[in-house]
Amino acid sequence: MSEGATPNPELFDQIVNLCKRRGFVFPSAEIYGGFRSTYDYGPVGVLMLRNVKDAWWRSMVQKRHDVVGLDASILGPPQVWEASGHLANFTDPLVDCKECGQRFREDKLDDPNLCPNCDSKNSFTEARQFNLMFKTEAGPVAGKGAEAYLRPETAQGMFINFSNVQNSTRKKPPFGIAQIGKSFRNEITPGNFVFRTREFEQMEMEFFVPPEDADTWYQYWCTERMNWYTEHGMTAEHVRLRPHDADELSHYSSGTSDVEYLFPWGWDELEGIANRGDFDLTQHAEHSGSKLDFFDQANDRRYLPHVIEPAAGATRTMMAFLMDAYDVEKVGEEERTVLHLHPRLAPYVAAVLPLSKKPELMEPSKKLFAELADHFNTDFDETQGIGKRYRRQDEIGTPYCVTFDFDSLEDHAVTIRNRDTMEQERIPLTGVAAWINDKL
Ligand code: ATP
Repeated sequence: MSEGATPNPELFDQIVNLCKRRGFVFPSAEIYGGFRSTYDYGPVGVLMLRNVKDAWWRSMVQKRHDVVGLDASILGPPQVWEASGHLANFTDPLVDCKECGQRFREDKLDDPNLCPNCDSKNSFTEARQFNLMFKTEAGPVAGKGAEAYLRPETAQGMFINFSNVQNSTRKKPPFGIAQIGKSFRNEITPGNFVFRTREFEQMEMEFFVPPEDADTWYQYWCTERMNWYTEHGMTAEHVRLRPHDADELSHYSSGTSDVEYLFPWGWDELEGIANRGDFDLTQHAEHSGSKLDFFDQANDRRYLPHVIEPAAGATRTMMAFLMDAYDVEKVGEEERTVLHLHPRLAPYVAAVLPLSKKPELMEPSKKLFAELADHFNTDFDETQGIGKRYRRQDEIGTPYCVTFDFDSLEDHAVTIRNRDTMEQERIPLTGVAAWINDKL
């Protein structure tokens, strides 16, 4: 049940600060004053973002016999976007404030008559539809190139490759095609840190099914996707499934639900799961002139598969996992900031910390690092006192700190400290990798 939980507005600044301080996310082009709404993922951010994507891929592709992967191009010709409806309809209502000149997305305003920038009343222009796609030109001669668009979603790559994938793999519905990659939208009002940016990453899967089974599969994927978030450590009270009202549904969809997370500003979307009918394949078949239907030999019939689409944002999801894992705890008289991240999502699984910089400890510590790094992301930190190093690892969410001390030279054992309980255990040096692997 998620209804009792309340948002924590202070968390927002805490996360933005932590991201900068510890190297998760930096504002892009910062030394040039920044470039609005783009972000760079730092040394630990890139690891965590990869882990989020890997966790998704693992459960959506690796562990499934009925889903295959794809990596389609980002640049595409206008025909694709004409067929998909994006050229005509991928728009948001844009209003200008006549007093301060700021632009807003009308459907995201708290009060449609009040400018949130200058507090003017009834100062907005009539809303006009603004297309969110980035247009560019492919070819070396300015003005003579072919018109091209940066994809605003990864989904179309899966639809236009339906036959290629089906013929090359011999998969039969029900089966899915999954893809992770960058998408671009010229958002009118980007904001809330990496929640809404103009360049972002998506994790999408198109699941093709016989028409009569579409609703069953839609329900199935709603449940699967909800479970994925909680299995990876998200607090159950902070995530909910919200079915769209009839007036929110696109004309072709017979069911859409959003997975929502309780962000510091309230409930907001992480993922959309939609029963899209045969809209996409019909459109591409008509516009391209290619046959995209499936011959069902067993029942001697041809049909256009219906599509269930779970579409998630990787960057947005990473931010939600960060917010959910963040905690400030009292330890004796002191405070510690800790990220209780699921070990699969934490940037590093382990950190090797030699107690001193003396060569007799550094050398075996580096050997241990090499051994662990062969299995999982491992950090190595020989700077500062051990207490400070523990705190730093807590702040980036490292589940296990392995300390090599002078006794280790004698007893061939190391101390492993658990991030969450802060308890320490002495483990034989030869068994460290297996011990940690066991915990994962
Ligand atoms: P919104 O209503 O928030 O604009 P949407 O419903 O248009 O999003 P979809 O087209 O369903 O979003 O995209 C699927 C997922 O991609 C979203 O749930 C979100 O996680 C992610 N996403 C979409 N737009 C952005 C963006 N501008 N920045 C970051 N992530 C995004």
